Amino acid sequence: MANPKNGSCPALTTADGNPIGMQQALTAGPRGPVLMQDVQLLEQMQHFNRERIPERIVHAKGSGAYGTFTVTNDVTKYTKAAFLQKVGKKTDVFLRFSTVAGERGAADAERDVRGFALKFYTEDGNWDMVGNNTPVFFIRDPYKFAMFIHTQKRDPKSNMRCMDMQWDFWSLCPESLHQVTILFSDRGIPASYRNVNGYGSHTYSLVDDKGERVWCKFHFKTKQGIKNLMDDEAGSLISDDRESHQRDLFNAIERGEFPQWRFCIQVMTQKQAEKFRWNPFDLTKVWPHADFPLIEVGTLELNRNPDNYHAEVEQSSFSPSALVPGIGPSPDKMLQARLMSYADAHRYRVGGNYHQLPVNKPRCPFANYQRDGVMATAESYGPQPNYWPNSLDQAPEPNEQHKDPAWDLGQVVVDRFDSTVDHDDYTQAGDLFRMFDEGRRDRLATRIAGVLGQARREVQTRQLCHFFRADPDYGRRIAEKLGIDVSEFQESGMATAGA
Ligand code: NDP
Repeated sequence: MANPKNGSCPALTTADGNPIGMQQALTAGPRGPVLMQDVQLLEQMQHFNRERIPERIVHAKGSGAYGTFTVTNDVTKYTKAAFLQKVGKKTDVFLRFSTVAGERGAADAERDVRGFALKFYTEDGNWDMVGNNTPVFFIRDPYKFAMFIHTQKRDPKSNMRCMDMQWDFWSLCPESLHQVTILFSDRGIPASYRNVNGYGSHTYSLVDDKGERVWCKFHFKTKQGIKNLMDDEAGSLISDDRESHQRDLFNAIERGEFPQWRFCIQVMTQKQAEKFRWNPFDLTKVWPHADFPLIEVGTLELNRNPDNYHAEVEQSSFSPSALVPGIGPSPDKMLQARLMSYADAHRYRVGGNYHQLPVNKPRCPFANYQRDGVMATAESYGPQPNYWPNSLDQAPEPNEQHKDPAWDLGQVVVDRFDSTVDHDDYTQAGDLFRMFDEGRRDRLATRIAGVLGQARREVQTRQLCHFFRADPDYGRRIAEKLGIDVSEFQESGMATAGA
């Protein structure tokens, strides 16, 4: 129905499509009370009560954009992934950036890891590359994941962020040292989402058309260059603008300045994996570039802002379990846990049929025997049978050609292996520290001392031992800023690298 005031505007209606005559409360007399009969008002207020969905427990604050991925290099000798089979081939994508620890209203320019979750709408369904702007993570055993996130959130009594809780956990989990060093380095507060790299972080597998498997890591290198904020710059930015990264990304795309990333992979054969000095499936480790050079794959460009934030960004749902033939998982324990928990989180947060929302829906034909649930539409399945096996024509059938080749696990022992023993948690954190110049080292130490100083003395000294083990200069600088006498560490032998 046309709006009588302006023929080009649609008429205002209720959710059922019934025209609305006036937008004033229906009352008994001009001073009230309001009548139950005012169904338009009641509907509006009741829908308002239901506007929010549960925020993500992690990565709650985010920004998203659509874009295009273009293959620039032939990697068919590593993978049969259909969208990577031809140089020049383009695939639509959706990317959501985020901070990790803050709630939905958190400021963008905070010191935190950034999420980098990328959905490729391929002809074999969606591939979700659910990564971060760092190549490693704080832990390697999924048992610690919920515990770690608790320490990043709020103290159960004070409801405040708690440095003692954070450093208590980190100091008891030295596998976090590498990521802690990145977090408190100059890269800890990106200047914008356009200026971050993205990493798959986990090890994944690639499978070629002969069924051969290699292990791989994913890297997205920003073409805008890495740019970061110093602490004082971030502080004054936040006081003016809590949405600085959302604003930067949105406005850049509106202006037609489309940010780009170079997509690269590192590849490791099974033979190399057996000889690699670290566990190649340990999420706290990188594969050194000198040993496993970056191989270019293509260019990612973001070029369209979503029309509706809630529908397209808040409800966008990414899961590492969305894998296409040619790209598969690895034994990485953290990845194995994420394969389950991400889709599960979306079923809780968005609903059992979250795949049916336009931003999440595959852009290729899809068919399965999952049915019904809240808000199911008949559009995808119609009268198709809902059981298998069946003898019906036109019913979806599996295709063996897409089967992941078998994994030869040899003779394995099933056990709860202690993920804290027989690991070198110090060399790579020390390597990173040793890459820093004098200014970077000093700023790193100042930032860490600033927050570690708020923890109990016992936590401070336990954590200092880890810094000393990574590099004596790393430990010494922080100890001095904390006013702790380093001789006690030297006497105990902690001030020796790799001790
Ligand atoms: P390389 O010199 O071959 O690689 C250095 C990598 O470190 C580059 O990707 C570079 O990213 C990145 N880098 C440079 N400065 C910083 C910084 N201040 N904070 C975080 N990352 C930085 O050395 P290795 O491969 O032996 O790695 C050494 C250390 O570099 C690792 O322990 C790790 O912390 C870090 N790193 C390694 C990556 C890898 O895949 N090997 C990836 C990212 C970081 P860019 O080229 O974009 O500047």
